[in-house]
Amino acid sequence: MSAQHWWISWMIALVAAGCGGCGGDPGQERDAEGALLMASAGPDGTEMPPGAMPELVESLRQSLATEPHPSDGGGRAWLEQLPGDPEFAIAGAPGRFRLIYEVGPEGIAVGGMIYFQVSPFWHWSTPQVEEPELDGFTKVTASGKDIQVDAATLDQQLLVLRVSGRALRAGDQITFVYGAGPAGALADSLAEKNSRFWFAIDGDGDGFRVFLKASPGIDVLSAPPTQIRVTLPSVARPGKPFRITVATLDPSANAGYPFEGRIELTSTSAEHPLELTEPVVFVASDRGRKTFEAIVREPGVVRVRAKSENGIVGESNPMMVSSDGQNIFWGDLHGHTSLSDGTGTVADYFLYARDASALDVVAITDHDHWGVLQLDQHPEFWEETKAETRRFHQPGRFVTLLGYEWTSWIYGHRHVLYFEDEGEIYSSISPDYEHPTQLWDALRGKPALTFAHHSAGGVIRTDWDVPPDPILEPLTEITSVHGSSEALDSPVPIYDPIPGNFVRDVLDRDYRFGFVGSGDSHDGHPGLAHLVTESGGLAAIVADTLTRESVLEAMRARRVYATNGPRILLRTALDEHPMGALIPKPDAGSYSGELFVKVVAEAPLERLDLIRSGQVVDSLPIDGLLEITLRREIEDLVSGEYLYVRAVQVDTGTAWSSPIYIE
Ligand SMILES: [Zn+2]
Ligand SMILES: [Zn+2]
Repeated sequence: MSAQHWWISWMIALVAAGCGGCGGDPGQERDAEGALLMASAGPDGTEMPPGAMPELVESLRQSLATEPHPSDGGGRAWLEQLPGDPEFAIAGAPGRFRLIYEVGPEGIAVGGMIYFQVSPFWHWSTPQVEEPELDGFTKVTASGKDIQVDAATLDQQLLVLRVSGRALRAGDQITFVYGAGPAGALADSLAEKNSRFWFAIDGDGDGFRVFLKASPGIDVLSAPPTQIRVTLPSVARPGKPFRITVATLDPSANAGYPFEGRIELTSTSAEHPLELTEPVVFVASDRGRKTFEAIVREPGVVRVRAKSENGIVGESNPMMVSSDGQNIFWGDLHGHTSLSDGTGTVADYFLYARDASALDVVAITDHDHWGVLQLDQHPEFWEETKAETRRFHQPGRFVTLLGYEWTSWIYGHRHVLYFEDEGEIYSSISPDYEHPTQLWDALRGKPALTFAHHSAGGVIRTDWDVPPDPILEPLTEITSVHGSSEALDSPVPIYDPIPGNFVRDVLDRDYRFGFVGSGDSHDGHPGLAHLVTESGGLAAIVADTLTRESVLEAMRARRVYATNGPRILLRTALDEHPMGALIPKPDAGSYSGELFVKVVAEAPLERLDLIRSGQVVDSLPIDGLLEITLRREIEDLVSGEYLYVRAVQVDTGTAWSSPIYIE
């Protein structure tokens, strides 16, 4: 096989297994894929929207249609633990892992390939055979002296052996000691159960590989904690008990370490002492995650400081103690697990969302057809997602939503949320659901919503020439780990933006969106993805009660706002019209009224921007205050205009209100 053929077969393999920048370091893999993805016309010559990747879709479909050779994916692999080997890995720490692959009954031909890939989306050391002193050094040995394999690192985390000499026969074994050198192999910085050492076999050497579904794995545990996360509800009532969530996290925001000891919680405001019903004490079985009840008697803004006996500190988000005003519930509506290209199990994702980041509303939205194994090809993955979503759902306490990501490489990604226990995957890879209108037709009449995301650029932009369905897509995700798609002048704009494709650019097309943020986390840290990246995303949902029905109702009414991570309190109204409202076409030809804005931030504020119909019309400097209330006359809003605000902290943490629209 020529070197070039080898390269191409690897590219196809990468498409079948890759991330495409959905994970931690979006730049790299997009560059790698660039060679495949530079086309503006479909395979049949049809006109494609700019930025579409028809070749990628074609290769995904091709690999679905390919009949594997009987020897592809043959054999088995396991992790061999000798006496003294650790039973688990510690996040970010070096280790040595002995893996054995045994050839299956069909053998492997000369020219065939054995792929060894540590969890490809994150930070395991890349297995390599060149530099014994460096991390990831992998010693490869075979069971027979006459076996010959040529090993090469092909990409981050990916080592490939090409069979030369003689063909491999059933029972032949190849041993990989990953981390054989003095530097070991660094484990993923993200804690997860059963982090996989993936093996894939191309038995006949035609460039098509099949993963061993039973590839071995190891648990990666959290490192010792270095931070305390204290989360208060954003709204509490005077004299009424509320819940405080306390979580100890390691430097990568992993939870689950068996922290033991007492944590002191104190209100930062002398007029608002915190009355706890029990001391804040952790035992090992709490795994550093626990909730407590407390009362504050007087109205006002309350923040809580935490300090452990060993000196770890933290400070909470602000809480408004008030006898009126609707509740604000916090959601992360978009994230991935190891069922596609993310980290960790479905159950651990929900546990983290509830007990570490104290979310009120959460969804898992794994890719329909992207990752090592494909969700739409594995009904048992979807059954697991449904079962866990149902199991964790607790109206009034923790609302879970069933979801998946419609991962179109032509029109842009959208995640689909169901507000009931059942729902189907309408896969973007299927010709029946490849266009957004086909997706919406399939969802019509169901309690479901779709959200375009990273829409201004990044991994792939949204094709805004397809008008969003007004019933099924009333909201749009304007911020996530990819940055903001609101506007280029956002504090942390998305990378590789397409001019004219920001959400603000399309609001004048009568697309009346409410704004939400969501993490698009791939790190197993829903709700807290922003702790280790520059930007994240949360959806603030303004509602009275915490149920799927009330959340859906608030979303359809656009009674929501977005932040890129911090739990900033934001209220806006134009006269009696709340954020997201559609003010009827003014009889007098225009509408004038008083805009009310109240912001209570997590960190000192830098400025408050007022955006009217495509322009930042005012930018008010706020010099480090934590709170601001503003009233301002707005004059002569005419039909088709809109108005929203953006509150920006000094640390670039930002909240965006949903716009108020004039019909
Ligand atoms: Zn996406
Ligand atoms: Zn996503």
